[in-house]
Amino acid sequence: MRKKLVAGNWKMHGSQALTRELCAATAAAKPQDVDVVVFPPSLYLREAVQVLAAGGAVGVGAQDVSIHAGEGAYTGEISAAMVADCGAGWAIVGHSERRADFRESDHDVGRKFSAARQAGLKPVLCVGETHADHVAGRTLEVIERQLAAVLDHNPIEAFVSAVIAYEPVWAIGSGLSATPEQAQQVHAFIRSQIRKKDANISPLTRLLYGGSVKAVNAAELFAQPDVDGGLVGGASLNAEEFASICQAAG
Ligand code: PGA
Repeated sequence: MRKKLVAGNWKMHGSQALTRELCAATAAAKPQDVDVVVFPPSLYLREAVQVLAAGGAVGVGAQDVSIHAGEGAYTGEISAAMVADCGAGWAIVGHSERRADFRESDHDVGRKFSAARQAGLKPVLCVGETHADHVAGRTLEVIERQLAAVLDHNPIEAFVSAVIAYEPVWAIGSGLSATPEQAQQVHAFIRSQIRKKDANISPLTRLLYGGSVKAVNAAELFAQPDVDGGLVGGASLNAEEFASICQAAG
């Protein structure tokens, strides 16, 4: 019922040349039955949109958007409307690196989610617990709080098209992915939180797993009933490996 989705988060990597190369390779390898979106640095969005316009099948998104929905004196910021104006259709909000390194609060993430929606972008909301919260058994509590903050600023209907990525912070870039069972347990919890608000919407929302997704572990993660694909960091910079991960979702 839910089409699988694989998203590549390039983080602060790449160049114009690499953007062209990776986008062309991704378009060529995209399986028909899987949605694929790439998230290059914002400076390269136009480049990605231009390369992918030919095929049109691979989506493009920004890794972050400004909390400010309108224009203004916000030096260095990029608004969701600008991202949309560049031809991109998606935006990641609340990545754990933004939450930790740039001190984005749950409330800030809720506002960014709203700014993305207002501009017509599909948000990919990242949630996930730190290692300390994980070992203290606070995973579900953290996720419940992060989701609630977004729902304070946005209607539940937003989750018909918005995507949620569960990314345990301890699994990001560590090579230590969550097990398929751990991912499924948290994904089922996320879906139950949406169900509490609206039982018609919860079966529609796509839930991605992120954190050390590789070609070797993708298939078993994506086989879980509530894992609808992946948000891939490091492995999305390698065209062959990313293609294998996309194929594992098919
Ligand atoms: P990783 O990153 O695949 O390199 O662990 C995932 C992410 O941060 O989105």
